[in-house]
Amino acid sequence: MTDKTLPEGLRPETLAVRTSIERSQYGENSEALYLTSGFVQPDSATSAQRFASGEGYTYARTSNPTVTAFEKRLAALEGTEAAIGAASGMGAILMMIMGLLKAGDHVILSRSMFGSTLNLFGKEFGKFGVETTFVSQTNVDEWRAAVRPNTKLLFAETPTNPLTEVCDIAALAEIAHAAGALLAVDNAFATPILQKPTLLGADVVMHSGTKYLDGQGRVMAGALCGSQQLITEKFAPIVRTAGMVLSPFNAWVVLKGMETLGVRVKAQCESTLAIARWLEAQPQVARVFYPGLPSHPQHELAMRQQSGLGGGVLSFVLKGDSIEAERAKAFHVIDSCRVLSIATNLGDTKTIISHPGTTSHGRLSEEQRQAAGITQGTIRVAVGLEHHEDIQDDLLRGLATLTQ
Ligand SMILES: *Cc1c(COP(=O)(O)O)cnc(C)c1O
Repeated sequence: MTDKTLPEGLRPETLAVRTSIERSQYGENSEALYLTSGFVQPDSATSAQRFASGEGYTYARTSNPTVTAFEKRLAALEGTEAAIGAASGMGAILMMIMGLLKAGDHVILSRSMFGSTLNLFGKEFGKFGVETTFVSQTNVDEWRAAVRPNTKLLFAETPTNPLTEVCDIAALAEIAHAAGALLAVDNAFATPILQKPTLLGADVVMHSGTKYLDGQGRVMAGALCGSQQLITEKFAPIVRTAGMVLSPFNAWVVLKGMETLGVRVKAQCESTLAIARWLEAQPQVARVFYPGLPSHPQHELAMRQQSGLGGGVLSFVLKGDSIEAERAKAFHVIDSCRVLSIATNLGDTKTIISHPGTTSHGRLSEEQRQAAGITQGTIRVAVGLEHHEDIQDDLLRGLATLTQ
């Protein structure tokens, strides 16, 4: 069956539910799941032509219609020409590194990026002769000063985990382009609902589909978005040969997740702002990190860059006078929760509470943690879709029973 062509100029809400591939001959309204690794060829000549051109479907490591549907929908949401799926967010970063860099190249990264990203660049990829300089998340001058003749890539993440530090995408794009380098942005926290990095000058947008795009904590997925040329010439050959391919089943789950991305993220932003304001008023709380609060150091930049929304993740710090006391208090607040999940993930419908100092940032030395601004009294909350007052009541169970 041939679908009617979608009209131009559709809005993001419409694109999120309507952008896909053509329906099959059965006319299914919900997107089909093509759970197949191989594709039957009509004859040898067609098969030869498909293998030579890479067009049409042959084998799922090269492409699969459900994965194509996921890629088209994500590209439509990000406003990029194309996208390419990966097995996970980290798989997408590996694809980016392999596609864009070679031994002798130099990369600039914020010190506050996702822990596995720091490890991949700092430890694993250093082995292959790619050098990385780590700079401040918020000081644009440090990024500029780190540029070298062999700098090929600037990679930023905004807002960051768990302290929600924001960086200026447009300023970093300018620095990258003046140096003849590319800017890539990890958009897992903000999602295209809050910010579309390529509209601010970024060249590549990286996603962990595991987080908000799925939005219900079910599967691992990742992607890179960018120009058709970057996707076809730099990234597709890598995924095809190196195999960090997105499974059709996971692509289908996230494809359906993206249909509700806008309503979920907006509701999560609204709840998170309410909880952040409430936390600021609690006497046991020393500080709240949330871009939607006027007390956030980059509040104005965040509001400008993120469509006036603060996102669905906040962190707060408990008052305490020693590392041990702070950790004991944080554990007490976390363990007193009866609704929130103690888990590793974010962007789920279920609110997740975590202690970065002993989980995501647990392997750092106390000194490195202090430098990153993460104390033992820091608690991260990735807000889900429960009523925000139930989330506050759950936090209050521990806060109200803290002993000094
Ligand atoms: C989770 C996450 C990643 C890694 O994605 P996976 O799907 O877990 O591999 C990268 N960046 C950010 C900001 C994340 O939150």
